[in-house]
Amino acid sequence: MNKAIDLTIKPQYIKNYMNGYPLISKDSIVDLSRVRDEGAIVNLLDERKKFIAKGYYGKQNKGYGWVLSSKKEEEINVSYFTHRIKTALKYRETFYNDENTTAFRVFNGEGDGVGGLTIDYFDGFYLITWYSLGIYEFREDILTALQSLVEYKGIYQKKRFDAKGQYLDDADDFVCGSRGEFPLIVKENGVNFAIYLDDGPMVGVFLDQREVRKMIRDSYAKGKTVLNTFSYTGAFSVFAALGGSAKTTSVDLAKRSRSKTQEQFTINAIDVDAQDIIVEDVFNYFKYAVKKEILFDVVVLDPPSFARSKKHTFSVAKDYVKLLKEAIQITNKGGVIVASTNYANFNMGKFKEFIDKAFRELGGKYKIEHTFSLPKDFKVMEKFKEGDYLKVVFIRKVT
Ligand code: SAH
Repeated sequence: MNKAIDLTIKPQYIKNYMNGYPLISKDSIVDLSRVRDEGAIVNLLDERKKFIAKGYYGKQNKGYGWVLSSKKEEEINVSYFTHRIKTALKYRETFYNDENTTAFRVFNGEGDGVGGLTIDYFDGFYLITWYSLGIYEFREDILTALQSLVEYKGIYQKKRFDAKGQYLDDADDFVCGSRGEFPLIVKENGVNFAIYLDDGPMVGVFLDQREVRKMIRDSYAKGKTVLNTFSYTGAFSVFAALGGSAKTTSVDLAKRSRSKTQEQFTINAIDVDAQDIIVEDVFNYFKYAVKKEILFDVVVLDPPSFARSKKHTFSVAKDYVKLLKEAIQITNKGGVIVASTNYANFNMGKFKEFIDKAFRELGGKYKIEHTFSLPKDFKVMEKFKEGDYLKVVFIRKVT
């Protein structure tokens, strides 16, 4: 490894870094342009050259790298990563011991001490996601560390390198061990999911919604009509159907969503023909439902942070209120809207303001029954609350 590069922190940011703030941001560094190489080790110093923290340079949409240690002498090598991953594995012990859930996050970036890196577990397979070229430079050390700590069937990877976090196509993403046979069937609270680790950026399920799915199945679905918008592979619909819903309706723009959703129903012995799967722009569907006076007991809203379709550009920050208003209009009185977003740039407080605004503008009353943020396996740092990007609110439409 090349010699560490010294960087100077602006005075007003020193306290932050001393307190354990993990993200190396452009604004906080005087001379960031001194680093060019992704994966370079950087020492963060104050203006009198006193050591504050050590990290790596890796350009991401979130910043320019992550702090790795507050110890000057600590080397970033196999033993460093072994220690971090070992601690992370211990923290997930209950997940490993739970036969009903065989898919979960093992390592959650800065929450487990190394920003830009996540590792997920899928029934014996591991999926590493690299969020910058910088962290990818450490791949050999990280792989060696992981391989020494876990038994695995196979290891796969996703590269999300460019500044927008876009997926970089890399054949079938296989790294080592044995190749899986896909779909791999994993379990979540006893429910099956079909997972494809070798087929593009998304593997079939978003693990961070586990508790929300369970809540829908166990407490909200029985006898209800459920509309699942931005439904992807229909994970929420599957849980609703298994919870005894009267019917689920899944709406997603992507053509693949139909077969993917059918597959998830089928592997859970749910009658596919009794469910509706609609391939369409959600905003068109709302119009259709209003016109036909179709109402639902439960409406799930889980849009991507940004989306572009032929007719609409949607951004959570700009358009969530509008989306909520559409949903409110097709929800039965006494029904429930499950509003979700993974947009990191506003917090739960702001999200609740959107909800309030939507109901106020329509002149309706509501009651918040549950809120969720990231589950335990998506470990978040106390000093970096932005890391807890997930916000889900169960809203009862009272009038
Ligand atoms: N709620 C899903 C994950 C959503 S991923 C789950 O829990 O698994 C985002 C999905 O939104 C993608 O499948 C994408 O195809 C879909 N999408 C994006 N814009 C859309 C639009 N305007 N109408 C319908 N679906 C849309």
